[in-house]
Amino acid sequence: MNARINGLLRAGLLASMTVMPCTAAFAHGEGTPHEQPIWTWTPEQITQHVSRVRAGDDLTPKSWPGGARVAVSISFDFDTEPVWIGFQEQSSPSYMSRGEYGARAGMPRILKLMDKHDIPGTFFIPAMTMELHPEVVAQLKDRDDVEIGFHSYVHENPMRLTAAEERKVYAQAMDIFMKHVGRKPVGFRSAAWDLTESTVSIVKEMGFLYESSMMADDRPYALMVNGKDTGLVELPVEWILDDWPLFQISWPAKHVAARNADDVYSIWKEEFDGAYEEGTMYILTTHPQVIGHRYRMAMLDRLVAYMKSKEGVWFATHEEIARYVKEQAAGK
Ligand SMILES: [Zn+2]
Repeated sequence: MNARINGLLRAGLLASMTVMPCTAAFAHGEGTPHEQPIWTWTPEQITQHVSRVRAGDDLTPKSWPGGARVAVSISFDFDTEPVWIGFQEQSSPSYMSRGEYGARAGMPRILKLMDKHDIPGTFFIPAMTMELHPEVVAQLKDRDDVEIGFHSYVHENPMRLTAAEERKVYAQAMDIFMKHVGRKPVGFRSAAWDLTESTVSIVKEMGFLYESSMMADDRPYALMVNGKDTGLVELPVEWILDDWPLFQISWPAKHVAARNADDVYSIWKEEFDGAYEEGTMYILTTHPQVIGHRYRMAMLDRLVAYMKSKEGVWFATHEEIARYVKEQAAGK
C-alpha cells in the first residue's frame, strides 16, 4: 500500500466517510499502477480499473407482487459499539455508550414501530454486535418479519485489509453469525458501504444472494465483475437515504449533522414519491443508535404512515425483493 495513504490511515484521517471512497480504489488495486499518481495512468488503465465492478442489467420487474407499484424495504444497520471501535477508531466508554444506546433505547422503539405498522425489517448486524447484545439478536431471530444480514466482524474498514485478510475475517464473522442466528444469511452489506476490489468475488464465493453497498442506480441491478454477471443481485443504497450522514454527530470524522427532522422527512418522502412514480424500489437505511432518538422515530413513524396511505406499496425484506427480482429476471 502506498506509504502516504498508510500513514494517513494510521492517523485515522481516512476514517471519515467523506474522504474514504475516493481514496479507497487506490489502496488495494491488484494489478493497478496504484503507486503512481492518477494523472499518470493511461486511459486504458483508468478504464480497466473502473470496469472491474460494474452495474449490469436493471432488474426492476415488470410488476411487483400483487400488482404493487413500488417495493419498499427499510434496513436497520444494528452497528452498536463496533462502528465506533472498528471503523471510527474510537474506544472510550463514551463512544461505547453511544453504540449501546442503539441496543437499549433504539431497538425497542424500532420493534414497536414495526409492530404498529405491520412492516418487515432487514437488520444488518456485525458479528461483534451479536456477541455484545445476544439478547437482541435472540429476539430478532424469532420474528418472522425480520431478515438478518451479514455486516462484517467488528465493522472493520475493508479497505485496510488484503484479500486474504478479508476472506479470513468474514469467515470468522460467519462462524459467530451462525452461532447466534443458526441460519446462513443471504444478504451482504459491507461496513461503511465501502468495498475492496476483492469484496464482490468473496461475497459470491460465500454464496450470498445479494449485495447491498453500491450506488450505481436506484433500481435493483445485476452485479458484474470484469464484464461478467456474478449472479448477485445488487440492492443499491444511497447516503441521502441513510440516517447517519443526515443526523449523526461524529467528531472524529469531523461530521456534525443533527438535521431538523422535517428536512430529512422531505428528502426521504420525495425520494419515495419518485420511486412510486417510476414504479421501482425504495431502500432506506437507518441505524438504531441514530434513528432511535425520539424526534427521529416520530419522523420515521410519519414517513411510514405516509407510504402506507398510498395504494400499491409492497413492504418487504431485502431478501424478498432480491429473490423476487431474480426469479422475474430468470423468467424473462
Ligand atoms: Zn454499519
